[in-house]
Amino acid sequence: MKRVVVAGGGYGGLRAVERMANVEGVELTLVDANGFHFMQTEVYGYIAGTKDLDEIAVDLKLWCSGFNKPVTFIQSPVFGLDPDKRVLKLQNGELSYDYLIIATGARTRFPDSVEGLREHSFGIKRLDRAFGFRHKFEEEIKRKLEGESERVNIAVVGAGLSGVEVAAEMGYMLKRYRNLLGEHSKEIEVVLFDACDTILPGMDATIVASAERRLKELGVTVKTSALIKRVEKEFIYFEDGEMWGYSFMIFTGGIVGNSEFVPETFEKNGIGQIKVDSHLQIEGYEEIFAIGDVSEIHGTKGEILPPTAQVAERSAEYCALAIKKSLEGKRAEPFRGSFQGMFIALGGRFGAAELFGFRFSGIAAYIMKRIVTFIYFLGIDLRANTGFKIRNLKKV
Ligand SMILES: Cc1cc2nc3c(=O)[nH]c(=O)nc-3n(C[C@H](O)[C@H](O)[C@H](O)COP(=O)(O)OP(=O)(O)OC[C@H]3O[C@@H](n4cnc5c(N)ncnc54)[C@H](O)[C@@H]3O)c2cc1C
Repeated sequence: MKRVVVAGGGYGGLRAVERMANVEGVELTLVDANGFHFMQTEVYGYIAGTKDLDEIAVDLKLWCSGFNKPVTFIQSPVFGLDPDKRVLKLQNGELSYDYLIIATGARTRFPDSVEGLREHSFGIKRLDRAFGFRHKFEEEIKRKLEGESERVNIAVVGAGLSGVEVAAEMGYMLKRYRNLLGEHSKEIEVVLFDACDTILPGMDATIVASAERRLKELGVTVKTSALIKRVEKEFIYFEDGEMWGYSFMIFTGGIVGNSEFVPETFEKNGIGQIKVDSHLQIEGYEEIFAIGDVSEIHGTKGEILPPTAQVAERSAEYCALAIKKSLEGKRAEPFRGSFQGMFIALGGRFGAAELFGFRFSGIAAYIMKRIVTFIYFLGIDLRANTGFKIRNLKKV
């Protein structure tokens, strides 16, 4: 039996386990610092209150019990990796492997150059931070309902995919609450800031334009070319001398790979992503793969692929195949990934999509995003429930 360890139970890690579970002669272990899979792609809805906790998180132990063969789940942070001894360092000791898939993702990167940013803002790549932000949002709505007339300024800093989705969903919810809050609804403003001169930098101009239109329709103020210098408890100070009072702030400006536990000899880029070769392996260690957000993955044209769930899953599928081939004494062809497109949720039943070169927006894009999410969640949920049934049958 060969021991395959997957470190990280996110989009990439789960897909890797799923694909490896069908491979003969393999003993599978999944390790994660948390006991749940956090569906970050749906967090915009959770923050604004349109989705609940059970729609964005899944118990990993339960999920692992849904396979026909045993898949061990260990809840522990990975603290270290000794690639020569082939062991991972966990909370309660060491875990040996024959093959290792590093899928520990990324976290929000708060630039050190912006004083006070980390201290005063919420990130959304962690469930506890998203939870805190949602409750802050609900608290403000409740205060307004009780007649509180103080202005509430919600700052969303970073107008990439996640910032735009969160700002749009909050704008939509505030619009929905108009009848509930009456005149008080005008006292809550959502402002989306970005240092670039556009929202969704790097995305197609038609997608940017439809997102801008939708944000305007939802009453979200957009401020681009807004470079933040420092943040204090109630004020954001910009490089150009402007300042802006805020009630609470969410920061979605960038990511850094969760790769602190790998040896210094592993090459990384400027945002802590592990550099992998064309087989998604670490140079000198053919048995170690790094996938998803924690790695810098190149596409077929040599371009760096964006950190998305889609890339995490494709790279995971590739790893499973590469390990299977290796067990057969063969070597897989190099990874051939490309960016196939993206759905953006733009508040309520509205979205924008860029898919295989086609661009569209409105309810069709929203429905397609919902279908993709539904299929993903159904797969996860069925696995967890099958596990439940198997355990119950065993008890009988
Ligand atoms: C608001 C938002 C919206 C998004 N929308 C989209 C979208 O529409 N489409 C899309 O494709 N992508 C989207 N993304 C990006 C997508 O969520 C990420 O690219 C994806 O989560 C990456 O998957 P991953 O498996 O690499 O890492 P993650 O899903 O982040 O999983 C990493 C796992 O590793 C664990 N971990 C981390 N460090 C350690 C450690 N030291 N030890 C043990 N465990 C550890 C974590 O607990 C986590 O479970 C969005 C992201 C955000 C924040």
